[in-house]
Amino acid sequence: MNMPKNGNAAKLPSQFKNIQKLVDDVYRNSTSPWVVTYSGGKDSSVVLDMFLRSAKKYPDGKHIYVVSNNTRVESPLVIGQLEKMHKILRRYIEAEGLKVSVHMTEPPLYDSFWVNLIGKGYPAPNQMFRWCTSRLKIDPTSAFIDRTIGNKDLMMSVGTRAAESASRKRNIDKHSVSEFFSTHTTRQNTQIFMPIRYLTDDDVWEYLASVTPPWGGDYMDLINLYREAYGGECPVVADASALSQPSCGERSPRFGCWTCTLVKDDSSLQGLIASGYMNLKPLYDFRNWLVETRDDITTRLPFNRQGQTRYKNGLLVYGPYRLEHRLEILTKLMTVQKTVGANLILDQEIDLIHDLWEEDRVFFQRYIGVRIPLNKFDESEFVTF
Ligand code: SF4
Repeated sequence: MNMPKNGNAAKLPSQFKNIQKLVDDVYRNSTSPWVVTYSGGKDSSVVLDMFLRSAKKYPDGKHIYVVSNNTRVESPLVIGQLEKMHKILRRYIEAEGLKVSVHMTEPPLYDSFWVNLIGKGYPAPNQMFRWCTSRLKIDPTSAFIDRTIGNKDLMMSVGTRAAESASRKRNIDKHSVSEFFSTHTTRQNTQIFMPIRYLTDDDVWEYLASVTPPWGGDYMDLINLYREAYGGECPVVADASALSQPSCGERSPRFGCWTCTLVKDDSSLQGLIASGYMNLKPLYDFRNWLVETRDDITTRLPFNRQGQTRYKNGLLVYGPYRLEHRLEILTKLMTVQKTVGANLILDQEIDLIHDLWEEDRVFFQRYIGVRIPLNKFDESEFVTF
């Protein structure tokens, strides 16, 4: 990946002008509101940049909802940058009187990463059991759309590019209905627009290094963040077709949840640590421990949360984490929280986790006859933030 050296104001190549014209034309002629997904990463930044230019040029265009996902386990530097950008965008939109609003989704408490992992005992996500993307990203985005737009026709713009990976290209090709449009897998009245489908990584960097953002300044904070992490990104995911893509996971380096166990090694966290962000080291170690212990059968129950035993090809399929292991994860997480001095888990999540432990303990004892003693997690030993 050729990272730009500085934010020079090189003359904008014609391919970017052509894409801006495409965005202008599609936006100007559309009769439905827009959702522009924005992760704060490089690809969605290009798309948002272009849409804001269109919104300014065509004040009679439809409303644009800029939607980001905060999974509440985002890499701390990335969420910091994203929150900062939301503030800048809101100020700019208000000053210009644009028909644009900015929104951050979060998973409901019951579906949070920690409640699923530690409360319900779901093993850390992998490609076979990727329970995270739908709960942390797709469902919150869908819930936002249901609340604000309902069942009306909708246009959605994404920063998807064929050059991201071979599987991304296959997926785009599979769902495309024309050069820049694809279908949404679940919302029949939603069209997905992919204006930067054909850009390469270098093109994206060139654009970000060449333009002045609509709100002024430059993209150097973003460029420097990638430079330090040498990362890619886990995009805002608004459509289940993304589940067959590497998106957040197997491709590396990338930004995403700091807890992500879909990658063997989190090279973006590793890159940031190497760049001097030593406070991220405990997070990196904790994530690696989650990967190491995921498939250790001594951490797992031999039945699922409904008490059923399942076999595949004659082999026992291990179920959720044992209650003792869930307690160990929470204890370790609280130690990390204390070390890094950041709020990693909410008090309400810890309360719900205790309720779920009690539910499982009583259920397993009553219906399976397994007696599971459990020490309540002693919160007094830990600070919460
Ligand atoms: S970054 Fe990893 S843990 Fe987070 S939603 Fe994507 S795949 Fe799941």
